[in-house]
Amino acid sequence: MKNNYQIQNKCPICENEKDIFYLDNYRLHLEEDNFFFNNLKLFKCNICETGFAYPMPELENLSEFYKNTYRSSDRPPWWTSKIYDNKHVSYLEDKNLSLLQYLTTFVNISEIENIFDFGAGYGDLGFILKKKKPSISLDCSENDKECEKILIERGYNNFRNIEDTNCKYDLILAIHSLEHLTNTKIFINFKKLLKPNGLIFFEVPNSSQEYFSKRIYDSPHLIFFTKKSFEKIGLKYNLKLINITTTSYSMYDSFKFQKQSQDLYKKLNNGIFKLKYIKNFVKNITPKIFLKFRRDYLKLKKINDDFRLNHFINNSNDSWCVRGIFKKND
Ligand SMILES: [Zn+2]
Repeated sequence: MKNNYQIQNKCPICENEKDIFYLDNYRLHLEEDNFFFNNLKLFKCNICETGFAYPMPELENLSEFYKNTYRSSDRPPWWTSKIYDNKHVSYLEDKNLSLLQYLTTFVNISEIENIFDFGAGYGDLGFILKKKKPSISLDCSENDKECEKILIERGYNNFRNIEDTNCKYDLILAIHSLEHLTNTKIFINFKKLLKPNGLIFFEVPNSSQEYFSKRIYDSPHLIFFTKKSFEKIGLKYNLKLINITTTSYSMYDSFKFQKQSQDLYKKLNNGIFKLKYIKNFVKNITPKIFLKFRRDYLKLKKINDDFRLNHFINNSNDSWCVRGIFKKND
């Protein structure tokens, strides 16, 4: 059955096979990832406006990619956070404050006892919520070992596989994780894990038509959601959509950052000084005090940057993210 699902070209949400059309070839962020994302095409469903890669990569390959490759310190987008050792303060970044502000507009934190953070990364939002209410217990699933260290420091219990927990939760977080999956059946797992009236807080990239006409790369994303995708998910899995909005900076800015990241990686890997030498230089030769100074300088620079304002803009059609909250109905 698993193979059958993977070779059939149909919408990952409404499962329609007829009203889908070819969009473009899949674009890789880094050429060497061709091993994991080989010869994919992009299709779009006319009914729910969801884009998707086809054929989906083998699950074993994907698992290997996220375990050992995706967050390697010599590749974007994670390299700077490793070099400047700023992951411990990353929870105070504007994007996380914006998530906190939005969530607490609809959810009373005092009623949350426990959280499951799906594909937690460093678990910034869960960590913030626990700071505001220390009795909250935090569980998560995250395969990356480096992230796991930070998650444990922050009070998380990591199950690695979502199917290994039997607990029932008040709130599930799925912040920039759904777009990495090969289908949307994870919502069946989410429903099993939620208490009655439990909530799912999600955010994904906004993949409206503008995305497909101007994006620089797609990988490693496999499903390309729009607001309408989540309306359909709500109907399919009987989840009440409490709110949905577009949010954050514009797609145009997002593409600009994509281009910069890709160009910088190419430059560093083609130059005399490959990135790993630069990384080792920074790590071994540069005194810690310099790194601290640089980190503080970057923080200050950030505070004075008008670009911050974009992280707090909702309801703009050209924003690069879609964010929303589901409530369990049954
Ligand atoms: Zn569809």
